[in-house]
Amino acid sequence: MTPRRLPLLGLAVVAGVLWWRLRPDAPAPSEQPASHGELRAVSWLASWTPTTPRTPVGRIAGYVWAAPLTVAGMLLGSLSGTTPEVRDGVLLFVGAGGVAGWMLRWRGFSAATLGHVIVAAGHPDAALLRHELVHVRQAERWGPLFVPLYLAGLLRYGYRHNPFERAAYSEQRRPPVNLA
Ligand SMILES: [Zn+2]
Repeated sequence: MTPRRLPLLGLAVVAGVLWWRLRPDAPAPSEQPASHGELRAVSWLASWTPTTPRTPVGRIAGYVWAAPLTVAGMLLGSLSGTTPEVRDGVLLFVGAGGVAGWMLRWRGFSAATLGHVIVAAGHPDAALLRHELVHVRQAERWGPLFVPLYLAGLLRYGYRHNPFERAAYSEQRRPPVNLA
């Protein structure tokens, strides 16, 4: 092992740990007792489900700020072998196959969201869409910072207890609002 390869080794170890932490098989947050002594910032993040920006300027700023993530999402979507549709202001790839579909199924995920792109393995139901749209709103607020913040949450708390996922799961469980 030459010193020049050490950073690469470090990167591989971090990637491996993150990959391991990204397991959807842990019990859902609701089945776990709330942890005491949690940092207030973490509890706040876990309870914050940002809404769609209200003004046109705010909405445009959200698209621009989340654009680096959206580009990554488009790359993932391009590996899904499907044509996207526009729904709720996002690009939605339904029934992902190819490399993207294989990656989702391998990790046991129904969908993945990157910026304003949602790649779904099958046909997402309303609850799953609510979950993924929380990640869209999080990306609009945090922009490129969302990636290191999400990974830090993943590293510290694992997938299910990552505050960003707790927020998304609480929205997923919420009964849909009946506007009729
Ligand atoms: Zn999620």
